[in-house]
Amino acid sequence: MKNDCLFCAIAAGEIPSSKVYEDEICYAFYDIDPQAPVHFLVIPKEHIASVAGIDGSNSAVVAHIFEVIARVTKEKNIESYRVVSNIGEQAGQSVPHLHFHVLSGRDMTWPPG
Ligand code: AMP
Ligand code: ZN
Repeated sequence: MKNDCLFCAIAAGEIPSSKVYEDEICYAFYDIDPQAPVHFLVIPKEHIASVAGIDGSNSAVVAHIFEVIARVTKEKNIESYRVVSNIGEQAGQSVPHLHFHVLSGRDMTWPPG
């Protein structure tokens, strides 16, 4: 756990959140400012700053997160959705702890803004 990291504190239960799913590796919770009728975030419990921090020592966590996304969306009967991860300021990353947005429930545009 990294000091002063918002998502480390959420994963540890120190800051309240609306839980979607939890296991020993990852935590999923609803976004506080939803951009679609369904919008939740999936984060590793281990602190990784972004996709740019993924390497051979931690990539299994990411595979696990995608398994969880596939399972949780199926359980919620969500058939079509978008998974997004912003890396760095220009791409719109505002919290420097790896997270995957899962968005669903409305038509999506492409290219993304
Ligand atoms: P990003 O801008 O891609 O780094 O995504 C960060 C996301 O975290 C944004 O969609 C925020 O709305 C969301 N967020 C920030 N603080 C909280 C919080 N306390 N609980 C839930 N979601 C949050
Ligand atoms: Zn963190």
